[in-house]
Amino acid sequence: MGDCVLRNVRIVELGRGPGWAGPVDLVVEQGVVQNIGHGLERPLGLEEYDGDGRWVVPGLWDTHVHLAQWTASGQRLDLSGSESPEHVVSRVRDHLAEHPGPLVGRGHRLGTWTTSPTVAALDAIAPDVPVVLIAGDGHHAWLNSRALERLGLPLRDGVVLENEWYEAYTRIEEVLEPDVSPEAYRRMLERTAALGIAGVVDLEKGQTPADWERRDSPIRVRVSTYADGLDATIAAGLRTGDVLPGSPDLITMGPLKIISDGSINTRTAWCCEEYADGSGSGAPNQTSAELERLLDAGHRHGLDVATHAIGDLALQEALAAYDATGAVGSIEHVQLVTRQQVRTMARLGLRASVQPAHLLDDRDITELIWPDRTERSFAFRWMIEDGVEVTLGSDAPVSPLDPWLAIAAAVHRSADERPAWHAEQALTAREALAASVDGQGSVHAGMPADLALLDADPLAEHPDTATAAAALRGMSVALTLVAGEVAHTAL
Ligand SMILES: [Zn+2]
Repeated sequence: MGDCVLRNVRIVELGRGPGWAGPVDLVVEQGVVQNIGHGLERPLGLEEYDGDGRWVVPGLWDTHVHLAQWTASGQRLDLSGSESPEHVVSRVRDHLAEHPGPLVGRGHRLGTWTTSPTVAALDAIAPDVPVVLIAGDGHHAWLNSRALERLGLPLRDGVVLENEWYEAYTRIEEVLEPDVSPEAYRRMLERTAALGIAGVVDLEKGQTPADWERRDSPIRVRVSTYADGLDATIAAGLRTGDVLPGSPDLITMGPLKIISDGSINTRTAWCCEEYADGSGSGAPNQTSAELERLLDAGHRHGLDVATHAIGDLALQEALAAYDATGAVGSIEHVQLVTRQQVRTMARLGLRASVQPAHLLDDRDITELIWPDRTERSFAFRWMIEDGVEVTLGSDAPVSPLDPWLAIAAAVHRSADERPAWHAEQALTAREALAASVDGQGSVHAGMPADLALLDADPLAEHPDTATAAAALRGMSVALTLVAGEVAHTAL
């Protein structure tokens, strides 16, 4: 198992490898790339694939996904692009006319709306069935009275924010059961493998390692825990990197995840300076002492810690807590930084787990409420220059689980005809791709046989970054191997 010969492939130069001119052959045995060279003998009995001159990179990683929500999001009403609360209400009304019954929608972004969503507006069109509308950034939800009742939340006029929402979300199945069966997961993971992905870090809330015993996966999954699962994780003796008991080798323990502050759209990202619209400066989700206690507990028990920090004050607090405890791991999002904070991240050896597609979504709201700090938003170039290890992700379903969208957004910081937004912070295609391969660099002998065979050269020269981004977004993947096994093939 996990053995094959991959002939006639070009190794994409991402550093760390010896460098190969022209097509080569790869021999994969025992799930490992054993040998690379020209005209290699095929060991007896090995499957053989002709790469036909295609380009090979290490299997891609998305280091920030919410797999259950991503699996469910295909079954939820897509409300992205809604321009106002009234627009959302009319879309919900149209949907309910055809599909009466409980409804979960997702994707609205109220950052640029001029009126506020109200419970009364939803009650007017849905007095009897629960309606739950999850914000595109996940940091609040807009519910009608029936849904508030069903989730045991106090009645109110406006939306449910941050911690109160996170706690309620774990009971959303009581309102509407999405299909997150092992079969639905399998289909979702197969679509993911078809993009060249060999692994994801699953930062889903409300799951336990035991949930993975029922699922089989063609790709690697690092499964996180939150504070509420930390005691059980410690009691089970699970450390980051351990195979989850009862699961295949591909399913391993990931980090402890902490959501230390909010988001820009929900105006809860915790900043050093006030927002320009007078809405305050955001807020932390826990005290500094609690943050430090969690980091310390995770670290002492062998867990990496992944700390969500979007505002610069949240990042400041997080860095102080890592420094004080010696904890290791990543800052998630790192959306607003000072140059000094980036240097501190480098000194502490913390990874920046960033989601470039968020800059496409947050460009306008940042200009509106953080106009004085746009040059410090999504500052990927500073991170690379200062020696911070950067890893790319999607935060799916906040943006689609698509590594090519993330890579393209890092290379060309625009989703439309406008020029790139702070192009000085863009990455090259090589840097963005190298940030997507779990630190493997170029394909080399001795690495796990997690490989993606691409139909086009991802580092091809283009006249400008817009053209490069379009080519990267359209990338097609001929073959994905994970531990030498075929996770996807179009060959
Ligand atoms: Zn997330």
